[in-house]
Amino acid sequence: MLIDQYARRFTYLRLSVTEACNFRCNYCLPEGTDCDTTRRAQDLTLPEIRRLVTAFAQLGTCKIRITGGEPSLRRDLADIIATCKAVPGIEKVALTTNGYRLLQDLPAWKAAGLDAINVSVDSLDTARFEMITGHDKLQKTLKGLALAEELGFSNIKINSVLMRGFNDDTLDDFFEFVRTRPLTVRFIELMQTSDNREFFDRHHLSGMSIVERCLARGWQERERSSHAGPAREFFHPAYRGGIGLIMPYSKDFCTTCNRLRVSSDGKLFLCLFADDHQNIRSLLQADRHHVELLNYLQSTVSEKSISHNLHQGNTGSTRQLAMIGG
Ligand code: SAM
Ligand code: SF4
Repeated sequence: MLIDQYARRFTYLRLSVTEACNFRCNYCLPEGTDCDTTRRAQDLTLPEIRRLVTAFAQLGTCKIRITGGEPSLRRDLADIIATCKAVPGIEKVALTTNGYRLLQDLPAWKAAGLDAINVSVDSLDTARFEMITGHDKLQKTLKGLALAEELGFSNIKINSVLMRGFNDDTLDDFFEFVRTRPLTVRFIELMQTSDNREFFDRHHLSGMSIVERCLARGWQERERSSHAGPAREFFHPAYRGGIGLIMPYSKDFCTTCNRLRVSSDGKLFLCLFADDHQNIRSLLQADRHHVELLNYLQSTVSEKSISHNLHQGNTGSTRQLAMIGG
């Protein structure tokens, strides 16, 4: 098993398959992708992904989330999904995407074994969406979400980053959205990275404002199981969908951490905001390194630090979250 000295069990791997992105979200890549073709050529290959996921699965990982950058920029995304799904022990393969290829590609991803999707939608207002992402793609993304429902995906999630001055006055739109739709909107507190310090200072908004809004309107908090991860979830009997909150600045956020991350160039990130990352790519080059990889993962993970140091403004070596997928 992958367990650290604080008895946290890591059963969930977030795997970035590319650092490149076609959007320019103002909090993430305001100037567009800084990932050139040389770096894209270094993205993990299918055999490397198979070896990586096999090792994690043998150490107790049962869920893989494929992320990026924008994972749908990989032409072989359906093959990546199928490769992950075929590994014994992997029960669930999920995808986080900006949604721009859902309409074209979702049927193929589902056929490949995709179980769940999170789609980023920071505003349900067309102009705000474009202002935040640099693209007039809200309607296309919403059609993609409707297709996900039609295809029978359950547990569809919308990720929405809370930003003072950009979407804080239109958040009620999301409450209306989940009144009749069986999906969850997950509000994510804006996180500081080394590239967005000023933006963070101006636009960070605490998730407590949403907690208060939920409670005042009769939403109830779901009890969390001990290995459920750090999100807080709310439900309301009059709504088909739910509301969730990711509040990385809240007390004890890290005590329920159940996830590890691997970047698209094969580095293990013990924490999103760690200073150093372990390059495991050499151990992914051939099946004969399998046992060495298992041993390395176990001993490294045991050293994971108890918490990030975001409260002290220490963002580690994370320039922006497209590096590793959030
Ligand atoms: N491109 C895909 C997408 O946008 O869904 C996947 C990668 S993106 C880095 C994953 C998630 O991280 C998205 O929901 C995005 O909104 C979120 N994110 C990116 N930068 C963030 C930041 N500084 N603070 C909080 N969330 C962030
Ligand atoms: Fe791209 Fe996702 Fe970052 Fe937006 S949040 S710029 S879609 S990686």
